[in-house]
Amino acid sequence: MIRKTRLFTPGPTPLLPAAQFAMAAADIHHRTPEFRALYQRVLAQLKEFVGTQNDVLLMACSGTGAMEASVSNLTSPGDRVLVLSAGKFGERWVALAKAFGCNADVVTKPYGSTFTLDEVRAALKPDTRAVYMQATETSTGARHDVEGIAKLLRSSGSEALLVVDAITGLGTTHFDVDGWGVDILIGGSQKAVMIPPGLAYLSVSERAWAAMETSRNPRYYFDLRRERKSAKAGESAYTPSVALVAGLGAAFDFIASQAGGDLAAGRVALINNAETISAMTRAAAQALGLKLFAPDSPAAAVTAIVAPEGLDSSAVVKELKGRFASVIANGQGDMKGKLFRVAHLGYFDFMDTIALIGALEQIAPTALKTPNFQFGTALAAAQQVYADRVAEARKAATPEAVHA
Ligand SMILES: *Cc1c(COP(=O)(O)O)cnc(C)c1O
Repeated sequence: MIRKTRLFTPGPTPLLPAAQFAMAAADIHHRTPEFRALYQRVLAQLKEFVGTQNDVLLMACSGTGAMEASVSNLTSPGDRVLVLSAGKFGERWVALAKAFGCNADVVTKPYGSTFTLDEVRAALKPDTRAVYMQATETSTGARHDVEGIAKLLRSSGSEALLVVDAITGLGTTHFDVDGWGVDILIGGSQKAVMIPPGLAYLSVSERAWAAMETSRNPRYYFDLRRERKSAKAGESAYTPSVALVAGLGAAFDFIASQAGGDLAAGRVALINNAETISAMTRAAAQALGLKLFAPDSPAAAVTAIVAPEGLDSSAVVKELKGRFASVIANGQGDMKGKLFRVAHLGYFDFMDTIALIGALEQIAPTALKTPNFQFGTALAAAQQVYADRVAEARKAATPEAVHA
């Protein structure tokens, strides 16, 4: 058999061909009218994709760069911040807060779980300057309640800014950035927007801009105020990642094309797509007798599946790669060997999902030692989920129904 390489990893994710062509053709200088036209168009598309009236800035860095910027720009050494941590990316917020001298209160929950609003309320102090959280914790496959926490902050009269790492949340989760009052929402290029790593973007509220004026932490490349000024003139402060910007524009055109040219509706279709294929994947895993790592609050971005007792999840990763050239993610850090992760964010569809589940069935007897295994068990469960969701979408006439 020939083997076709496919990524099922939660970043980098599979590339959109139209974006690859746009990147290959992006032979333009960044201080020209041609680039300014492209940059302004992509920044406007970004605002629509994020769904906000706030400024959205693009930076040439990985997602962590924008996370760092939202600590260095908003805080001063000694400031009290609150970090919600239940996985590797939550721990990254803790490390960043410490690196910039913040006094970090941390609500820590076991990997795979999420926070209750009571826990967050109890940890919130009158002088908490900012709250840092993930929308979806990619290392565990759990979704956190951004809406609930945003509303809690606003209704409690807290002055704290809310900063959300939505790097795998964007394109897999519905957000009302302005309505809920999210001050900074962060995304990254190698996730739902189907292009390579190298760009981060973030929306910034007026409250956050005001807070930057009193922040005393050092910043230079990641000085958001400088980036905002340049963006107003249709440029970036330093040499932008020209090719990735062109690719991002093509990806937004594709996302819009999935809903008749309307990018906001295309974003909804992209989220519904992730919801459907993640539900198919969860049903398939459970039909195989496998446990989900975050069963109570599963993210649509990625599904983390627990390897059966006594087995190493690395075998699943290795067999899928070796036999089917399909790349899934192992557990991160302490979770390595204990779980495997399948991504749903971005350029994945029904066909990809069914194929992966079919391959999982092929390796189930060896890598997963699934008892009483029968071909078709996982596929049937996934097929039923898909059929049910299509029937629901038809009834509700959502954008999904366009293709049903
Ligand atoms: C991918 C990811 C990041 C960013 O990682 P980079 O390697 O810096 O791009 C941050 N948070 C979450 C939740 C992620 O999934």
